[in-house]
Amino acid sequence: MKTKVIVDSSVPVHYTRVEKSIFRALVHFGVNIDVVDLSWSRIAPNELEDTHLLILAQEGIGKSLSKEETDVILKSVSQGMGIIVLDGYLNWYPASFLKELKILAEKDTKIETLKLTPENKITDLCEHTIEVKQPLLGFKISRPEDWSVLLSDQENNPSVIYKRYGKGKVIFFLVSASLWQNQYLGFGEGLDGVFRKSIAWASKKPYIMKSMPPFITAKFDDVSFSGSRVMKYKETLENVGWLDIMNRYGFIPNVALFLNDIQQVDSRRFREKEQNGLAEFSPHAFVDFRYMENQEECPIYLKHNGQEFTFQELKNNFDRVDAKFGEWGINLAKTLNVHYQEIGLNSLSFIKERGQKYTMTPIRLGKVWSDPEAHKWESPPYGKPGFSFGPMPEDDYFFNVLSVPPRKDVNVPTSDFLYRCTGLHKENAFNDVEKAIKRAVFQIKRGLETGFFGCFMTHEQRVAQLALEEWETIIKGIYDNIKNIPHIMKSYDTVACYAENRSLYEVEQSFYNKNSRELTLRLKGRTEMSQYLNVFTEEGEQDRESFLKIPEFEQLTEVSFNI
Ligand SMILES: [Zn+2]
Repeated sequence: MKTKVIVDSSVPVHYTRVEKSIFRALVHFGVNIDVVDLSWSRIAPNELEDTHLLILAQEGIGKSLSKEETDVILKSVSQGMGIIVLDGYLNWYPASFLKELKILAEKDTKIETLKLTPENKITDLCEHTIEVKQPLLGFKISRPEDWSVLLSDQENNPSVIYKRYGKGKVIFFLVSASLWQNQYLGFGEGLDGVFRKSIAWASKKPYIMKSMPPFITAKFDDVSFSGSRVMKYKETLENVGWLDIMNRYGFIPNVALFLNDIQQVDSRRFREKEQNGLAEFSPHAFVDFRYMENQEECPIYLKHNGQEFTFQELKNNFDRVDAKFGEWGINLAKTLNVHYQEIGLNSLSFIKERGQKYTMTPIRLGKVWSDPEAHKWESPPYGKPGFSFGPMPEDDYFFNVLSVPPRKDVNVPTSDFLYRCTGLHKENAFNDVEKAIKRAVFQIKRGLETGFFGCFMTHEQRVAQLALEEWETIIKGIYDNIKNIPHIMKSYDTVACYAENRSLYEVEQSFYNKNSRELTLRLKGRTEMSQYLNVFTEEGEQDRESFLKIPEFEQLTEVSFNI
């Protein structure tokens, strides 16, 4: 059961682009690929045996394929193999290939917008219209009625089409594969769902992926509860009012505390929350910078001017953290949530000593938010810091886990779902409950669609502007909007730990015995936490996605399932 990706490294510019985008996405979604590089290997008739999915990935790949090879490909598709053609440069494919597929190229065109066909068999996205960043090459075809349309352009011409061909399925992108380059669109920008679901739909079944399960969590920064300095509605904050409502609807947030603000009236409930797995608490800072003359009294991990604390200063800071958490009787969250995510290099050993292993930062370690260098890093997988899974470059003990649609301007907090929805800093004339729900739901759905996790985030100062009933309306609204989407509510630590373990193993081989319906998988690596593989099966015309549980293992394991 193989997935083959066809490239041609003798065209180095286009090949490097595939490596940096489509390959990364395939790995991120947990697709185990075999690369067929046409610069040294050709597609012989036996090449595609046991191939469940073939992806033509590279820009201009049509030019590297011979008629004999596309004949072999089409024969395999007719026998059940799936194919996704990601490059729509039609002029370069052998004419017989297009003719057989009934693709009649008319003329090239410039794509500005891609719109999802509402009734389609493949996917449902949170946004149905995606603007590309600059016009993209596409091809107009005549007689598209032989195909179903998945995406169309600004003039309603088909841009991505699909159909059955014999026993197999075909998805054809009539746009250049440069769609997946950041300068045109790239991943994490709203089409990842189309990418993943295309794989799931086209592939011969059964088909296995190692994507993230649809986890949903939340992160709340700048939390003071009733010690808030901008409190408008006491009942929303006191006795952890807003947190109770979150829990009522199943959400388990990471709560990042301004330690010195915390009042006993609220902290007496921390323990019950933490012990019952209803919230996780992270030391965010001692207090907010904006309320202190001496800014050095605010942060725990790094001075706000970028200077490192000395080890003695850090010892004092962490003693104070320990004293607070000791007094409240709670453990530290394993995922560190720091004010402005400013984490000094000197503080790392103190953080490790306390068992914190995960970060949720869009910036590099040892830098402050205002430092332009802090924002320049190749955060895995795509170099887009809002969506990040992977070890931190400065110290790979730390694994970064973040799923927040990136900000366009780092100085404008658009990643906060309540930004411009309340009266805080005169951001809005009234509390806009509907807008808040819409933005939180967008954050969640975008995170799920990109194969990270659903996460909505805010700063408690904005929650403090809402009456408790308004807050409940928002949380209930979010809940109602996502209840029909398959999802699993988890804490941030659980999601982080899962994501790290997912990165430590791979599916080395998979065999499916059609007669006994037994699927056997050989896994390599290790995981300290049960994992779930996605298995796609077909029942008549209907595709089904279910999960196979993989127990913890070390080095190698073989598991079998009846599917
Ligand atoms: Zn903060």
